[in-house]
Amino acid sequence: MKFRLLTPGPTPVPEETLLELAKPVPFHRTPEFRQLLAEVLDDLRTVYCSKNTVIPLTSSGTGALEAALVNSVPTGKKVICLIAGRFGERWKNICKAFGLEAITVTVPYGQAVQPDQLKRALTDHPDAAAVCSTLSETSTGIGHDIAAFGKIVAQSPALLLVDAVSGLGAMECRVDDWNIDLCCTGSQKALMLPPGLAFVSVSAKAWQAIDKHDAPRAFYFDLKKARKNLENSDTPYTPAHTLVRALRVSLKKILAEGMENIWMRQARYAQAARAGFLALGLELFANPPNNALTVVKSPPGIDSTVLLTKLEKQYGLKLANGQDELKGKIFRLAHMGYIDMFDILAAISGVELVLKEMGHPVELGKGLAAAQKVFAANE
Ligand SMILES: *Cc1c(COP(=O)(O)O)cnc(C)c1O
Repeated sequence: MKFRLLTPGPTPVPEETLLELAKPVPFHRTPEFRQLLAEVLDDLRTVYCSKNTVIPLTSSGTGALEAALVNSVPTGKKVICLIAGRFGERWKNICKAFGLEAITVTVPYGQAVQPDQLKRALTDHPDAAAVCSTLSETSTGIGHDIAAFGKIVAQSPALLLVDAVSGLGAMECRVDDWNIDLCCTGSQKALMLPPGLAFVSVSAKAWQAIDKHDAPRAFYFDLKKARKNLENSDTPYTPAHTLVRALRVSLKKILAEGMENIWMRQARYAQAARAGFLALGLELFANPPNNALTVVKSPPGIDSTVLLTKLEKQYGLKLANGQDELKGKIFRLAHMGYIDMFDILAAISGVELVLKEMGHPVELGKGLAAAQKVFAANE
């Protein structure tokens, strides 16, 4: 049986990237590594659609969120957190851990925060130092209108921080055009790498805020120190350099296709996945859904935990469950990164087979046909 990793992190890694990871470990303080790091950060700027500094961090994606927040916002300041799911909650929890006052704008899970809600929060809290949001809210599958958020925040002194961990490289994200001040991502989603690297892009407005604070707000995640070392294409501490070397390979693959082509392909994947599940009579959980993953409600009487276990054990299809209170109620199919149309068709086909086995009324092939039609119309 073939195993298919279809979770929203980690995601499958291309063969040529895996081969890079099989090579011997070199020393890291060398001209070769500095050249490699500079090249990778340059390529990442293309992915970010930005001319900003991109800081590499040896951590999972959350490290980038923490670095972005603690470096740019001083203790005691207000931060507006736009919360549409678990990852929005994470911003609030980081605020709590570092003595920042979180002003929360929360919507029911499955929905997105509207630009007007942000506008109101900023009017009510003109002293907010930052606005924290999520491009792709991976826990529910919704996408936020970051372009609209950026327009609003740019007119205020606040910084816009975006968790783009599962969104960057899967859906449109234009850091410079959209005025994103600190944009965070991690290696194990659309960048097609194992976990272990995180990145944050830093705008001129963000550097101004960061440079204003003299007291160090972080040690390992000190962005000023990282910027200083980057002048020499180096990192303050031992980088996960074998991952950086592998990232070069995945990035070349990404750049060869081109960001706009990837966004279009991702849109087609998402459209096919949605069409397939809807044709089976299932309901989507997210409104509006994003193009990085498709989140589906488990039909009445079907526990998604059972469905997912069967999918994995019987068909090698690893999809993700809901988290916390959504566990057992939804399932999440990721289609970001190193995924092709047949992975999506396999997932829909597997869901049909398992639902039928579980006694849910499905007409085999109905979802599959609906998804195929989307692909056929686009060929
Ligand atoms: C995966 C993910 C993260 C990062 O989680 P880590 O486990 O720290 O890598 C953060 N935000 C979103 C939206 C994610 O999907």
